[in-house]
Amino acid sequence: MKVTVVGAGVIGITSAIRLREAGFSTDIVAADLPADTAASSVAGAIWYPYGSSPDSRAAGWGRHSLGVFTELAEEAAPGLALKEMLDLRVARGSDPWWADPGRGFRHADGDGLPPGYAGGFLQQTVVIDVVPHLEYLSARFESLGGRIAQEHLTGLDDLAAEGLVVNCTGVGAGTLVGDPGVTPIRGQVVRVGGVNVQRVTIVDEGPLAYAYVMPHGSEAVLGGTRRPGQWDRTPDEAVSEQILEKAVLLEPALAAAEVIGVKVGLRPGRERVRLEHEAITGTPGIIHNYGHAGNGWSLSWGCADEVVVLATRAAG
Ligand SMILES: Cc1cc2nc3c(=O)[nH]c(=O)nc-3n(C[C@H](O)[C@H](O)[C@H](O)COP(=O)(O)OP(=O)(O)OC[C@H]3O[C@@H](n4cnc5c(N)ncnc54)[C@H](O)[C@@H]3O)c2cc1C
Repeated sequence: MKVTVVGAGVIGITSAIRLREAGFSTDIVAADLPADTAASSVAGAIWYPYGSSPDSRAAGWGRHSLGVFTELAEEAAPGLALKEMLDLRVARGSDPWWADPGRGFRHADGDGLPPGYAGGFLQQTVVIDVVPHLEYLSARFESLGGRIAQEHLTGLDDLAAEGLVVNCTGVGAGTLVGDPGVTPIRGQVVRVGGVNVQRVTIVDEGPLAYAYVMPHGSEAVLGGTRRPGQWDRTPDEAVSEQILEKAVLLEPALAAAEVIGVKVGLRPGRERVRLEHEAITGTPGIIHNYGHAGNGWSLSWGCADEVVVLATRAAG
């Protein structure tokens, strides 16, 4: 059965890879090629499904994806590294759901932490340098025989008449399939060079929230912002300055860093991920896989494997 994946961000490419691996003749159509995608090419990124609404499916997709990324990092796939992450907390609370002694989970004590923080959690995670990793994913898809065609679609009916469609259009899904629950969540990041920082730091509460440092070799991606409802992708200089100030408080070694780029991306906000098959009479239907908000990298492989289950059923 012919399958067309619409969208070439991390959600579209991982779905397309898994579909090809499962034997489906799959190609991708996308308005933006991987390196120009609104969310995937801008993300920091780390495995950390923060901001997920409580959803047992998302927790499962997240755990599964972490396993896949870890294996890929151990095989030295481009753009991936295993690093320690410090998640700062204002008070000592109960352990997070993702605490895993097998990944070195432990509590950080207050020594040496920025003012306002009583401690935090330390654990190994996967750090993703997104552009080289998207290049790797695209090449892997193409080596399986897949093709990526560039086209902006205004509807999915024509494609659905030809075969199964997998809708991985991120924030574009709002207009494409008329889903009013999809909203952009604007995020700005600053990339710096000339740094020697090894640890990921993330803080989502207290005086420095919301900020993060994600090291990639001698460079690092610093963030961040979360502005729901904003479509404007023009970088804001004042925001970059705030990001840099907070980053230096998190990692004083960054005071000597040199700014090498600023990007703004649009997370595909939605209360929950939409991952389901929509039946359409006379056609194999559409599998929707969008609305991953700030967690798309962290959930990608788990969602991709579920797409294969749904596609197998639709082919039934
Ligand atoms: C600043 C920032 C930091 C982030 N940090 C993290 C992180 O640390 N960890 C994490 O897990 N996640 C993070 N995220 C979130 C993650 O990047 C997204 O959830 C994920 O990239 C969404 O992927 P996607 O493929 O659904 O969307 P996108 O990457 O936006 O791709 C959408 C694709 O659909 C195509 N498309 C859309 N509409 C149409 C149309 N009408 N016709 C044809 N094609 C169409 C686009 O051209 C594109 O190819 C971050 C995001 C941002 C912006």
